[in-house]
Amino acid sequence: MIDLEGKVTIVTGGTRGIGIEIVKTFCENNAKVILFGSRKETVKKALDKLKEEGFEVKGYYPNLNDFEEVNNVMKEIHDEFGHIDILINNAGISANKKIEDTESSDFIKIMNLNVNAIFNTSKAVVPFMKEQKGGVILNTSSMVSIYGQPSGVGYPASKFAVNGLTKSLARELAPANIRVNAVAPGITKTDMVASLPEEMIKPLIATIPLGRIGEPKDIANAFLFLASPMASYITGVVLQVDGAARN
Ligand code: NAD
Repeated sequence: MIDLEGKVTIVTGGTRGIGIEIVKTFCENNAKVILFGSRKETVKKALDKLKEEGFEVKGYYPNLNDFEEVNNVMKEIHDEFGHIDILINNAGISANKKIEDTESSDFIKIMNLNVNAIFNTSKAVVPFMKEQKGGVILNTSSMVSIYGQPSGVGYPASKFAVNGLTKSLARELAPANIRVNAVAPGITKTDMVASLPEEMIKPLIATIPLGRIGEPKDIANAFLFLASPMASYITGVVLQVDGAARN
């Protein structure tokens, strides 16, 4: 076990999929976890489910594109716990339409959540992390941030930007002992993927040298490692967790 005893950890997009697995994994390793979701109902549902499984977690649903709202929630969390140690920017949406069928509003929507929201949450926690002389910011990128993808251009474009934010903030914040890294998952078995029919899954698996789709736990463990003191000399990396998939 990696002991994150008392480390106040915020996970955006923590209500389902990869995010809720990160929440559970950090709880199992003694962190004090606060999840963010998009709506009151989905946050409540996630908190109830977590409670049933024995995890005590708090939840908020700020509009991640409204800096003042994000800043106020971060202040509230800081007032309650006295510190914010780890921020995990995991909320994200994807796209798969051809460019002719994509409206500029679709492109803006993706960039708003996948990129601008990370700017807002990071900007809000950095003063606290500087004051406490250290912290960790982790972002969820994607394997499409390395290879692009043949449709839905906003999604890979946003994840290339996530890598840019990660590498640049890592350099800016290293003197303040704040490490910034990203995890780039390959295709991962969240609800959406798990519900795909066998005939769609098989060809996907055939492109993955390790011969299987990633489990949310595979991704959560990478976040855990990067958040832990075991990664104390690692900053500015985009860690691919994709079974060596290359497309
Ligand atoms: P998911 O759809 O299961 O979960 C997305 C999370 O983001 C939810 O908790 C949701 O509440 C939150 N969210 C969505 N819209 C929001 C909004 N407007 N405001 C605030 N929160 C919002 O997705 P997932 O597959 O678990 O993806 C999580 C992250 O992993 C994303 O950044 C995604 O790009 C990345 N990723 C996923 C895969 C995969 O195969 N599942 C692969 C690579 C990268």
